[in-house]
Amino acid sequence: MLEKIAPFFIGFIILCIIAEAVYSAKKKLGLYEIKDTWTSIYFGILGVVTRIAFKGINLLFWIWLAALTPLKIETSVLSIAVLFLLNELIYYWFHRWSHEIPILWATHVNHHSSVKMNFSVAARTPFLNAIYHILFWIPLPLLGFSPLDILAVETISFFFAFVQHTTVIPKLGFFEWFLNTPSHHRVHHAMNEEYINKNYGNVLIIYDRLFGTFKAEQHQPVYGITKNPIRRNIVNITLHGWKELNKKS
Ligand SMILES: [Zn+2]
Ligand SMILES: [Zn+2]
Repeated sequence: MLEKIAPFFIGFIILCIIAEAVYSAKKKLGLYEIKDTWTSIYFGILGVVTRIAFKGINLLFWIWLAALTPLKIETSVLSIAVLFLLNELIYYWFHRWSHEIPILWATHVNHHSSVKMNFSVAARTPFLNAIYHILFWIPLPLLGFSPLDILAVETISFFFAFVQHTTVIPKLGFFEWFLNTPSHHRVHHAMNEEYINKNYGNVLIIYDRLFGTFKAEQHQPVYGITKNPIRRNIVNITLHGWKELNKKS
């Protein structure tokens, strides 16, 4: 199923980027900058390649873990709903620790390397986190969820995060309470003091509200990272996190 819908998602993403760039040019909004966009595309290609490579390994690992446990959960609407909520909880801590633990931040910082906020920024996936990503999802196959269900829920949730990367979608009223909307994710990408290390959610914002990391968008966000602003050289951006880690140790 995922092989069939993935090309649709990727096509949709490319169309959205083109539409937003054209809209920005027509309205003179300055949302895109050519070099910055090429950097995002470079990380997008690296991200897709590593994700495809590691998905096979992830799936085999989850199948092996699922065979170890006596627990078995049959696929149903309820099991998918519970799996979705658990996947969101795991993503929340995976993302939060990617900010709080220096060695994980060294890979995640790629995603925060742009001073722009547009759909292309979503492509700046921290591709090296595929190495440790697998460890966070270990509880799900051990609880008895089907590895194919885990893969489907995790991948579809991952694609949803794309639509959060824009400044052209305003606040969404009622949905702001439980969804990680573009407004909430703009806060996550901002370096304003009050916005730092906030809004780690994936599809939902409920775990940020629960664990005290929620912040609503109140002032105009300034995008990027506070320390050692990254020059827009692809190699420099890729190695930036590791260089910073090396300096500290
Ligand atoms: Zn982040
Ligand atoms: Zn983001």
